Amino acid sequence: MINTRNTVQRELILTTVRSMDCHPTAEEVYDSVAAVDGHISKGTVYRNLALLSSMGRIRKVCMPGTSPDRYDFNLEPHYHAICRKCGKIVDVGCTLQEKCIDFHEPFMVEDVDLVFSGLCGDCCCENNGH
Ligand SMILES: [Zn+2]
Ligand SMILES: [Zn+2]
Repeated sequence: MINTRNTVQRELILTTVRSMDCHPTAEEVYDSVAAVDGHISKGTVYRNLALLSSMGRIRKVCMPGTSPDRYDFNLEPHYHAICRKCGKIVDVGCTLQEKCIDFHEPFMVEDVDLVFSGLCGDCCCENNGH
């Protein structure tokens, strides 16, 4: 049964993502998974992350620019804010109404990935302290 090991690995990856409260990159997930299962390959982790997000069990968060994609276990509708200084990503609770957006051409929205950028509380205070 080849599938058994695949399933075990997939569940391990899912549990790992759920235990990481920091929107990990695939690389970070791999590091944590490899600490538990030293035989797992990077390709397996990357493939399963893609699979889990296509199954809707985790969410892939596309980051702007050259930042690598992140994975999120929080499936509730929410957006993200990224700190340009320390790279911290925080959840933003916000419900965007499609009817409030002025589409200049007819467009059927299927998905929204909104990322705010700026300074987190820690980095902001650092600047103010001087
Ligand atoms: Zn910061
Ligand atoms: Zn999130």
